[in-house]
Amino acid sequence: MSESKPDKIKKGESEWLAQLTPEQFHVTRQAGTERAFTGRYWNSKTPGTYVCVCCGEPLFSSDAKFDSGTGWPSFWEPLAPEAVDEHADRALWMKRTEVVCARCDAHLGHVFPDGPEPTGLRYCMNSAALDLQPPNAAEGGEGAGASEAKAEE
Ligand SMILES: [Zn+2]
Repeated sequence: MSESKPDKIKKGESEWLAQLTPEQFHVTRQAGTERAFTGRYWNSKTPGTYVCVCCGEPLFSSDAKFDSGTGWPSFWEPLAPEAVDEHADRALWMKRTEVVCARCDAHLGHVFPDGPEPTGLRYCMNSAALDLQPPNAAEGGEGAGASEAKAEE
């Protein structure tokens, strides 16, 4: 239990195609962008952890999600700094910083310096790159009689 960096995942295009939906493949492996207000999570307030749709790596917490009004799920910080890699992206007319999964290099979205406190950052993500895992779903057997461990809301 000493390594802090997750093992890199490398898969060929055909493997990703078999695993992902066409939209997930387009966004994560071809650096696509879903249309605003069309994704699963832009308006979601469900608590949980957003994991990489490609490799399952935990990337963002619902605790850091905010309503950016952009039509994409937006966060002010990743779950852990090492969970994502950031690259300068000069493909378009404006300079942006691309955000990818540190484990499998899935394209997730971009980060902009106009977010809220406490970081001032806005991680503008694609719903298609994320999969929301509800709390306590990490282990296989949910509903196994965990009774008073957590307060009902
Ligand atoms: Zn990944």
